[in-house]
Amino acid sequence: MFSEMLKSKIFEQLKTVIDPDLNTDLVTAGFIKSVSITEEGVVDLTIELTIPTCPLQFKFKMEIEQKLLSLEDIKRVNIRFTSRKRGGITASQQGIFSKIHSVIAISACKGGVGKSTIASFLARALQRNNFRVGLMDLDIYGPSLPTLMNLPHTDVAMIDERIIPVEVDGLLTMSLGYILGDAPAVLRGPLVSTYTSQLIHQTEWGSLDFLIIDLPPGTGDIQLTLLQQVALDGAIIITTPQTLSLVDVTRGILMFEKLHVPVLGIIENMSYFVCDGCGKKHYLFGNGTVDLQNRFGLSILTNIPILPNFYDASTKNAGNEYDTLWKPLVEQIQREIGKRRATTLSSPEIIIKENTFIIDWKDGTFSTIPVVELRRACRCAYCVDELTGEPLLKPNEVPDNIKIEEFQPLGHYAVSIIWSDGHTSSIYPWDFLKKLTPPH
Ligand code: ADP
Repeated sequence: MFSEMLKSKIFEQLKTVIDPDLNTDLVTAGFIKSVSITEEGVVDLTIELTIPTCPLQFKFKMEIEQKLLSLEDIKRVNIRFTSRKRGGITASQQGIFSKIHSVIAISACKGGVGKSTIASFLARALQRNNFRVGLMDLDIYGPSLPTLMNLPHTDVAMIDERIIPVEVDGLLTMSLGYILGDAPAVLRGPLVSTYTSQLIHQTEWGSLDFLIIDLPPGTGDIQLTLLQQVALDGAIIITTPQTLSLVDVTRGILMFEKLHVPVLGIIENMSYFVCDGCGKKHYLFGNGTVDLQNRFGLSILTNIPILPNFYDASTKNAGNEYDTLWKPLVEQIQREIGKRRATTLSSPEIIIKENTFIIDWKDGTFSTIPVVELRRACRCAYCVDELTGEPLLKPNEVPDNIKIEEFQPLGHYAVSIIWSDGHTSSIYPWDFLKKLTPPH
């Protein structure tokens, strides 16, 4: 009797603790996983946050302790924080990505805007926050990680088909630049996909808090290959305030949105420079990111000025502006991921039985699609003309005995399939599959 009354009082109090990012209280957000009270008035709480070491954790702890200790019979409060698992992890991602808590792609639609530099310094800032961090340079046309890490010549070790990341002052790194050395990286078409896949699937990261992926600029094949293979927690887009790059950024945002990868926000680089003499900020190109913020409602995560010595990320403490620039940026990114994860639904489950593709929607309903029909329904750019919407794939071109070689849910929005006819670009959004074969 003691505990039931007290329990409801505890819940009343917890309902007044608000998560400012989700605009809801801890109980409604579903964060309270267990509450127990001893006869001596000790409360044990388990709280499941959206990401590990959420920056709001300390605020929650203080507020909960203060509120619960104000209740008459409570003498002590023990809080255990756990964190929600990433959604959309598939069997084939088990082993490598299942042990990585957050995967973030750094993207830019144009070269030379500072994407690789920011990816490296961001990785260092995360590391300084005591996270275990990996940095994967997939900028296949211009891998700059070897330069940023001051490692022009590096031997990459392989153990049992596994690529071992190169550790640079505690940061795990991998770059095609390490493998290619000085050889020209003029890799096109299928080769690009092959190398990307190898780095993605064979690098042995172990367990990480964050994996930062430095994408090549643009919205082409390589981004698609990556998006097909990795369950990303989000993408960050780097831009400079010049109008021309904003047009490109718009294209990038649309690409990610179309593929349902949450864009966590935009970093505007080379926004201004601070005058040595008077300390005044000079904005050379105006403030273009405001347009993007209005148009897409995306956060501008930070504005980075033109910085001296912004090229050596080879040591843990790289980046002079840690307290004013990088630390707040890390916190902002964590909160953006948390927001996305909180509203995330888990993916449906796929079962392949003989020639049938079955989707368990996890609500008691199922969709059943013959595998051959699924192949015929592919809407990729090779199968349906992107501009006209005209079908390019003729149904009779698909053999009746076609098989699914591999499938992979993408985040929580789609599934990609590799087919036995060599077709690798199929992406089926769950919504599309629901319409194709209504659940029963
Ligand atoms: P990207 O990856 O977008 O092609 P990089 O990261 O290679 O661009 O940066 C291009 C060049 O710009 C590098 O020489 C880098 O040192 C420089 N740079 C990037 N951002 C800044 C900045 N904020 N201040 C000064 N130089 C910068």
